[in-house]
Amino acid sequence: DERVKEIRRELDMHVSGADVAKPCISFAHFGFDEALLNVIIKHGYSEPTGIQKQAVPVAMSGRDIIGIAKTGSGKTAAFIWPMLIHIMDQEELQKGEGPIGLILAPTRELASQIYTEAKKFAKSYGLRNGIKNDAHTTLSAPSQILALPKCRVAAVYGGASKMDQFKELRPGGIEILVGTPGRLIDMVKMKATNFRRVSFLVLDEADRMFDLGFEPQVRSICDNIRPDRQTLLFSATFPKKVEILAREVTTEPVRISIGSVG
Ligand code: ADP
Ligand code: MG
Repeated sequence: DERVKEIRRELDMHVSGADVAKPCISFAHFGFDEALLNVIIKHGYSEPTGIQKQAVPVAMSGRDIIGIAKTGSGKTAAFIWPMLIHIMDQEELQKGEGPIGLILAPTRELASQIYTEAKKFAKSYGLRNGIKNDAHTTLSAPSQILALPKCRVAAVYGGASKMDQFKELRPGGIEILVGTPGRLIDMVKMKATNFRRVSFLVLDEADRMFDLGFEPQVRSICDNIRPDRQTLLFSATFPKKVEILAREVTTEPVRISIGSVG
């Protein structure tokens, strides 16, 4: 409708795909639980960034995304928030297993940044209203607050001790794992973790992963994750080779781009 078109025009946003969720101009409309909203507000965020306004409702609707927006546009939170909600919505968490949310990043620095961002929002996890499938209900009776386990986050990347990372992953399992493709594969080979539980996959900075020669590792990881997963791919630029990969690893994706795409 007209309002949706106007919002997208103002953000210089281009969206393609069938039955795309409408953009949300405020955090309150994302369908997040109170605990996550509180953490977001505490961080001093007053409104979602352009890519967040459209990518979050699409991700919350369970759809795959190809997101193209320049550096600094808030893409990390755009996938971390829906990933947290996805994890919270699991029937029950079993201990000692591999991640539910897996994020591939091109470098150690990026993996660490994503890890930090994920940790700060994962804090809301144990505070959540325990009523299932009721994200719109705000906290009411205290008896409805379930003591949920923590949402554990870990990062693995090259240039650091494999043994240390092995030890970090091995004991109790994790819910969110961030890593560079090569080291993630090493960790699976060492049986420090596995991808059996992954149902929410993010490929961040896909263009840089290509530039760094990680294409075979990225493909191999995607091939080893259940095909009915939700997949979000983000990139600052969108050359043909990234587009081909994006089409291969996603299912009926919604493509969202901000500004002109190179
Ligand atoms: P990108 O991945 O698109 O390069 P980042 O996710 O790293 O961007 O975000 C860039 C900066 O913007 C970070 O410091 C992040 O904390 C901040 N940020 C993210 N979302 C918001 C928001 N809604 N309001 C204000 N700052 C935000
Ligand atoms: Mg980023």
